[in-house]
Amino acid sequence: MMRRFLRQPGGRLALIFAAILCAMSAIMGSYVYSACQKASADYTTLISDIVLAQQATPQLRVALEEGRRLPSNEHIQYIDYFISLSKRHLDNIQNSIEHHRYLIADVEYLNHHFSELNSRLSDLALLSQEAQQRPELIDPLQSVAMEIGSAQSWLYNQLLEDIRAISVQQRLAMQRLSIAVSVLLVLMVSAAITLCMAVIYLHRQRNVMHELMLTDELTGLYNRRHLVNVASAGLTQAQRNRAPLSLLLLDLDHFKQINDTYGHPAGDEVLRQVSKKLRELSRPSDTLARIGGEEFCLLMPNTATHDAIQAADRLRQEIEANTLRGMELHANPTISIGVTSCKSGSLTFEQLYSLADKALYKAKALGRNRVESLLPPNAPSPHNDPLTYAHTLIHEPSDS
Ligand code: GH3
Ligand code: MG
Ligand code: MG
Repeated sequence: MMRRFLRQPGGRLALIFAAILCAMSAIMGSYVYSACQKASADYTTLISDIVLAQQATPQLRVALEEGRRLPSNEHIQYIDYFISLSKRHLDNIQNSIEHHRYLIADVEYLNHHFSELNSRLSDLALLSQEAQQRPELIDPLQSVAMEIGSAQSWLYNQLLEDIRAISVQQRLAMQRLSIAVSVLLVLMVSAAITLCMAVIYLHRQRNVMHELMLTDELTGLYNRRHLVNVASAGLTQAQRNRAPLSLLLLDLDHFKQINDTYGHPAGDEVLRQVSKKLRELSRPSDTLARIGGEEFCLLMPNTATHDAIQAADRLRQEIEANTLRGMELHANPTISIGVTSCKSGSLTFEQLYSLADKALYKAKALGRNRVESLLPPNAPSPHNDPLTYAHTLIHEPSDS
């Protein structure tokens, strides 16, 4: 079924469309995922670390000023404290950066500034320890510290500048993200609709194929294949319920003459109209099928012989009385009917068919436009006469 669907241009197009939509959805999905990651990055901890570090830099400068004015070990220890504080801040900032994988690439160029600052702070710590013994080193200590302080300020400003630029990108990414999510939704819904439509189309095609397999093109009635299936199921059911089942074979009389007189298309029209009439007259629980050129079969579940014969005669009379629309035939077409029944699904379809066929043959032989029945041996006759099981003449046509 799928192969047949693909062989059709519409089916191929639907599948290609669905495949393109799926591919686009996958691409958009991965974009949305990475944009989400970027847009959801939170830099507040990093920014607060930088701000804290920036606040420590002027404090170091004040401590150095104090130390120069009143050189004392206490001040040098104070300087030591700020140096270690600066180092701690530096470490914190570096750690924070490592947690933001989308930031690392953008601030990679600052790496060597970080390591340089780190080593210069270590040197400054050594110098301050030396200055505790040699106060004359306080001046060079201060100038080195000033330089380091400037480098620190530049580095932190640069870092803040980069984060600000990244935040702007983040905002843009958020905007693009909302557009991408909308597009993604549209794509996914479209893909789902396309696939649903393809499935519905396939389902319909399957039903149409199934219908075509079971119906007759000219009359729209069921065909022999369907009748055989329904009859088998009906016989099983009849056996289970111990219910009667009847079968009627109907054949148009002298149909060849209609064809010969009015032409084949007119013959087709007769077949269509007679089929329609028969369908209208039969019960919904019965199955009417066209099983040959001008031959029909009516399967009647839960119907005993007597009722089937009555129904057959009603059909015969109705067809005889039915003037066909749009056709000027010299007489209404008539049908002959062969009837048979079984009591509780005890026969096969072939056996039933054969009995009905024999009954039909008899109806033809006895002059047509009549109903004949033939029951299986041992079946009680419709008139409760156990000895009569074969032909029961129901109607004697007026013209014969
Ligand atoms: P009888 O009363 O003995 O049944 O005679 P009949 O002429 O009806 O039966 P016969 O078997 O001699 O001819 C049946 C004709 O039905 C012959 C065939 O050309 C015609 N026929 C079969 N199928 C179709 C069809 O689909 N359309 C038309 N127009 N004619 C068909
Ligand atoms: Mg015929
Ligand atoms: Mg025939």
